[in-house]
Amino acid sequence: MQIFNIDVMTLFPEIFSLTMQIGIIGRAIKNNIINLKCHQIRDFAKNKHRRVDDYPFGGGEGMIMMAEPIFQTFEHIKIARQKTPYLIMMSPKGKVLNQEIINRIRNFQDIAILCGRYEGIDQRLIDEIVDEEISIGNYVLTGGELPALVFLDTIIRTLPGVLSSENSFKHESYYNNTLEHPQYTRPQIWHNKKVPEVLLSGNHKEIKNWKKQKSKNID
Ligand code: SAH
Repeated sequence: MQIFNIDVMTLFPEIFSLTMQIGIIGRAIKNNIINLKCHQIRDFAKNKHRRVDDYPFGGGEGMIMMAEPIFQTFEHIKIARQKTPYLIMMSPKGKVLNQEIINRIRNFQDIAILCGRYEGIDQRLIDEIVDEEISIGNYVLTGGELPALVFLDTIIRTLPGVLSSENSFKHESYYNNTLEHPQYTRPQIWHNKKVPEVLLSGNHKEIKNWKKQKSKNID
């Protein structure tokens, strides 16, 4: 089976640790379906105080992440993986994430993700090594780590072998440009509300029709 290699470049690797241990992503790592490594950009700052940011040329608010420490982190990843991963930067200026982007990126075998902080990253670094910028929505967060987790979560759950059955996600909202039908579980009556009769009928054809009818088209 093909392993999906993911290298994350960040100033806060600890944000990823919990997610890497629990739930579906934790299991995918344990089962060697994905190989996820986080790299502390500060470790690759060669200057005296391991400085990773500096003032913006031309003035303006806040600090900018310097190009060189990120460049060196990526050089390290390239050597460790013996190839150049497809590099995605989380950015509010990128394409807004959707199922189409996810279906395309899940076909890569090696990706790297760059998480920005402060006011962003020196544009020359972005021009030189970043392949694609992805946003998780039209608003600004304090860092790329939460966007990276959102992005990784949605990619990882669609990889072969991660969910118990591929049908789990193929029937879900957005996969076929539909929004999934409502769902119910036990008990059959809760707060006087009954589960739709058809779902208890055992008639597979009727159940299938009901589900189709209750799924909304988003074309
Ligand atoms: N000054 C920048 C915002 C920097 S926010 C601007 O106005 O465009 C700091 C970092 O958080 C960014 O470099 C990016 O990595 C991350 N980030 C913030 N909002 C994001 C979003 N909606 N999607 C993806 N990443 C985001």
